[in-house]
Amino acid sequence: MADFDVVVIGAGPGGYVAAIRSAQLGLSTACIDEWKNAQGKQSLGGTCLNVGCIPSKALLESSENFERVSHDFSAHGITASDVQYDLAKMLARKDKIVSDFTSGIVQLFKKNKVTSLLGRAQLLGREGDFWRVGVEGGEEVRAKHVVIATGSTPRVLPQAPFDGINIVDNSGALSFTQTPKHLVVIGAGVIGLELGSVWRRLGAEVTLLEALPTFIPVADEQVSKEALRAFTKQGLKIHLGAQVNSVAQEAGTVKISWRDAQGVAQELVADKLVVAVGRVANTLGLGAETVGLKLDNGGRVVVDDHCRSNLPNVYAVGDVVRGPMLAHKASEEGVMVAELIAGQAGHCDLSVVPGIMYTAPEIAWVGKTEQQLKESGVSYKSGQFPFMANGRARSLGDASGFVKILADTKSDRILGVHIIGPMASELIQQAVLALAFSASSEDLARIIHAHPSLSEVVHEAALAVDKRAIHI
Ligand code: FAD
Ligand code: NAD
Repeated sequence: MADFDVVVIGAGPGGYVAAIRSAQLGLSTACIDEWKNAQGKQSLGGTCLNVGCIPSKALLESSENFERVSHDFSAHGITASDVQYDLAKMLARKDKIVSDFTSGIVQLFKKNKVTSLLGRAQLLGREGDFWRVGVEGGEEVRAKHVVIATGSTPRVLPQAPFDGINIVDNSGALSFTQTPKHLVVIGAGVIGLELGSVWRRLGAEVTLLEALPTFIPVADEQVSKEALRAFTKQGLKIHLGAQVNSVAQEAGTVKISWRDAQGVAQELVADKLVVAVGRVANTLGLGAETVGLKLDNGGRVVVDDHCRSNLPNVYAVGDVVRGPMLAHKASEEGVMVAELIAGQAGHCDLSVVPGIMYTAPEIAWVGKTEQQLKESGVSYKSGQFPFMANGRARSLGDASGFVKILADTKSDRILGVHIIGPMASELIQQAVLALAFSASSEDLARIIHAHPSLSEVVHEAALAVDKRAIHI
């Protein structure tokens, strides 16, 4: 039986980063993960690398390129006739990116001397200063510290259980070998909108059924309104306030019976149904009950601000704990925990986690929305600037949307930044930096921004907070 300073359970962005950082800090470290790819081989990287962030972005880029060539390039004077796409090649490209990155983690583990073990891990109990951890089909290991990073799995809708063929989750929706004629997605959240966009661009009719009456409630209201307008114009059929009653499979099709916002019974027939109604923490088979690990009502491991669980020297990070289910949040928690174990001052500020939707237009935000500030009675001022008035955006031929900055009325401290438009995913990072350093809108306004660049829109929005934008 091998002993380690740190055993990490799960090799997603929370776990593999925690393992590498622990090893960098001189702690003997093992990382146990059970994920196998379609060829039955271990595939490190968890949801993010295998069936999440990376493959979805690969398909978003390919499908957007197809859409650009088909529709947008003519405005540049570039015409192409009979534009085709090769779905098999597109999927192979996506798979290659995934396998390059998952094998990259194998190399990173080797470089940092992290012991990688394959199999489902289970907490068995305490033995002196050590935790005993069982590895299914393998040896038992002992750890002074355990980091649980077991991630999440798709939430199952009882009326539409996954069959992996016609009713699928994100994994299935990333691997259709034929573009569906009619794709219905239950849930107009991040996955629904990103993957719905992919298949719409490739020619599917896409209908989204969203239970809530509000579109993307986590985003700023003005941004969600703009997004709904843009996605509807592109052809996504989005029904808010939809209640799915039953789903039946008939002769290779899926029949969805639902009620619209007015309570009128409706029916849709699709050749594929994606269910993307959120994800649930994954603690299945972990041995939580055996060792007395405290879980909340949602099945998440209960942790404090430093990701400490109720058990001594047992930490949990990423999707399996509270907070947004995002890869960068999981990784930062992984780093924090490794540093705490090594006796350093670990830190992870959940108030400045950027959220991004990689749709077109992209949507990105950090900090508070206008509706949150109103609800909490905070006095704020707002500055907004459109991409339409920006030279770089116009040159790109992608000038929809705006940047909106919310700042405290008295102190001028930036409280939230909301972007819908080109490269919002990259632009948001300067806002994250500003919030992390408690910058004021004037700080941003006084910083030189390169011309012509999309970041000038952030600059002008900061100027607009003080009603002194130049180009509008
Ligand atoms: P996971 O990545 O889920 O990894 C957990 C790992 O633990 C898995 O490998 C699992 O096999 C393993 N495991 C579980 N239990 C055990 C056990 N008992 N023993 C051994 N191994 C175990 N986030 C972003 O920030 N940006 C994006 O663009 C983005 N896009 C996404 C797109 C899709 C389609 C999906 C589904 C998610 C996306 N996410 C994105 C979310 C992101 O993937 C997750 O937040 C992130 O993967 C969470 O990391 P994690 O390490 O907590 O868990
Ligand atoms: P989500 O929470 O973003 O969206 C789920 C949607 O389904 C919500 O709008 C919800 O109201 C709706 N819903 C719930 N039950 C429903 C029902 N019965 N009928 C109709 N609609 C219903 O979750 P998701 O899209 O499944 O994504 C899961 C997680 O993965 C998210 O937490 C997200 O953070 C992460 N993710 C992130 C990215 C990114 O960062 N770009 C991309 C994809 C996924």
